[in-house]
Amino acid sequence: MKKTIILASNNEHKLTELKAKLKPFGIDVLSQKEAGYDIEVDETGTTFAENAELKADAIYSLSKMPTIADDSGLMVDAINGEPGVYSHRFAGPNATDDDRINKLLRMLESVPDKDRTAKFKTAICYIDENGQKHFFEGVCEGTIGYEKKGENGFGFDPVFIYEGRTFAQRSREEKNEVSHRGRAIAKFVKYIEDINKER
Ligand code: IMP
Repeated sequence: MKKTIILASNNEHKLTELKAKLKPFGIDVLSQKEAGYDIEVDETGTTFAENAELKADAIYSLSKMPTIADDSGLMVDAINGEPGVYSHRFAGPNATDDDRINKLLRMLESVPDKDRTAKFKTAICYIDENGQKHFFEGVCEGTIGYEKKGENGFGFDPVFIYEGRTFAQRSREEKNEVSHRGRAIAKFVKYIEDINKER
């Protein structure tokens, strides 16, 4: 029987990436909207894992179907790990990616090269068909530049430098290979692969 997992998100990029990764295992992925759950979950957790769990719980409690959710953000060392779980709300509720980037660059104005270290983190919460929760984490370490570079990606990608180039200077595939989200998804896929082998 074909297995279906609901992604507790309507983000097209996340859906496309996850669909492609799980197809080889005969698993189909539906966005929460496609599955009929058009809800918005308050991200009130204090960690990425808590927020991922809140989103997965909300959909699982309605659907009772395997559900996956993720939560990510940027942690900048010089400002005590900010913006962290508040990455999306960093510059207020109606702010744009540019507003968030500009705020970050202003906060780091006097911070020298060596202290501009940062990491992106992703937590995944997967609730299986038995209601059991599984957590996976992905981290990508880099630095914050002084100006935006590159046209691809979203969020803080134009200022997050990984091995000499920003995430926005990489193609989607190149970024997915090394990104926090790509690494967390790879761990989840490994888990699915392992349980498939056991069956
Ligand atoms: P989400 O939990 O994946 O929706 O990410 C929350 C926020 O963190 C986004 O709105 C971005 O501001 C930031 N963020 C997360 N992942 C990335 C990324 O891969 N590139 C740039 N910004 C990101």
